[in-house]
Amino acid sequence: MSAKIKKLRVRIAPSPTGPLHIGTARTALFNYLFAKKHNNSFILRIEDTDLERSDSKYEKDIIDGLKWLGIEWDELYKQSKRTKTYEKYLKKLLNSGHAYENEIIWFKNPKKKVVFDDLIRGRVEFDSGLFDDFSIAKDLKTPLYNFAVVIDDYEMKISHVIRGEDHISNTPKQILIQEALGLPAPKYAHLPLILGPDKTKLSKRHGAVSIIDYKEQGYLPEALINFMALLGWSAQGGPKNDRELFSVKELIKEFSLEKIQKGGAIFNIEKLDWFNGHYIRQLSLDKLTEMCTPYLIENGLIKPEFKSEQYPPGYGGYSIKEEYIVKETKEKIESKKLKKIISLEQKRMKKISEIGELTEFFFKELKYKPSLLKWKDMSKKEIEESLNKLEKILSEIKEKDFTAKKLEKILMPEAEQTGQPVGSPRFGEAGKTGDRGKLLWPLRVALTGKKASPSPFEIAEILKKEKVLKRIKYAQKIAK
Ligand code: GLU
Repeated sequence: MSAKIKKLRVRIAPSPTGPLHIGTARTALFNYLFAKKHNNSFILRIEDTDLERSDSKYEKDIIDGLKWLGIEWDELYKQSKRTKTYEKYLKKLLNSGHAYENEIIWFKNPKKKVVFDDLIRGRVEFDSGLFDDFSIAKDLKTPLYNFAVVIDDYEMKISHVIRGEDHISNTPKQILIQEALGLPAPKYAHLPLILGPDKTKLSKRHGAVSIIDYKEQGYLPEALINFMALLGWSAQGGPKNDRELFSVKELIKEFSLEKIQKGGAIFNIEKLDWFNGHYIRQLSLDKLTEMCTPYLIENGLIKPEFKSEQYPPGYGGYSIKEEYIVKETKEKIESKKLKKIISLEQKRMKKISEIGELTEFFFKELKYKPSLLKWKDMSKKEIEESLNKLEKILSEIKEKDFTAKKLEKILMPEAEQTGQPVGSPRFGEAGKTGDRGKLLWPLRVALTGKKASPSPFEIAEILKKEKVLKRIKYAQKIAK
């Protein structure tokens, strides 16, 4: 009766008792890469035998999360639909005396040495004498994890069980059940744990959130995939490993179980942010604008128009996931201008969700403290002088010349001159440049109300002459 393992087949077997977290997603990814590398099947099995703790909302979260990451399965099973199959094998174990019923169903532990060759950890030995008989089902219709997993891995012809190291202590129990039923054992590969920066098991304490939360926070699936792939695996192996950027295609090509490390993998959120910034810069401006729009709407910076009639004006209950098109904004931001704004931030953004905070100065009236206008040790008088100078120069520039390039050309020499030490000749001491900040800092603050922003010339081009002068005047007013 033992079915031969003909093909390479792997699975991810999440229990819907919580949302899809990074550990399960990484396990799913490694299984997926392994299957696709060998042109074979990756199976999703929802392990919902724990009826009290399983919840369909988590099942949806897991499915949505995997789909969003692009980890698509070839077959889908749900354990709660397979009760008859488990019953058949339970009866077999009861009839052969390997199991007995005493309220619940127990497996009779033969108390022996169990050995298996783990593809990552090497030879693993357990003495099953160290634990007692163990439960395998509540009753014939309600199997428990260690039993159901053995039956399913066999029935689904799973060739390799690739899963988290936290399951290693379950493996001897599963092997004992396989032996009692005369089933072939799959190959095992237990992945290293994911650890927080303090080297303890990654948890919510470390800010770990569900995969869908990463999506809502403005991470891209490409970034998470690349990041997760390197949690315990590296293309080269060994210390000379400097390649970090991989597309899914490249990962499929490069992936191998041999290059998975034994030691825990450290989760570093800054690294994830770095990957995300990288992938944000790879996006086309159209795509990035489309992705930023819901966040700008959520921040109240632009207004949506829904595609569907079902969302009436006022858009109560609006969620960033819904469909919309951008019609207009408080400030009549046409999409061309919106794209320009976003392109300025594309270089700096680490998360799509930052777009509101980064760009709100384009959309809102500014409010900032006058002290922000001060560059280094500038006096009040010097700040006023700089602002007056800016007003004079900018008001003389024709509206059509309000381009970043022209503004830079005009303002840079002025900034250079404004920054010369008092009494020094026109071009400063030999080899020294003037402190341009004296003119450019108040300009940046007047236009943005912020200490850090993209180039003030680029910002001025988008704001246009009228608004630029309005903002300079406001700065003059509060600087007094
Ligand atoms: N259902 C188990 C879990 O969610 C996985 C079992 C396995 O991979 O063998 O952790």
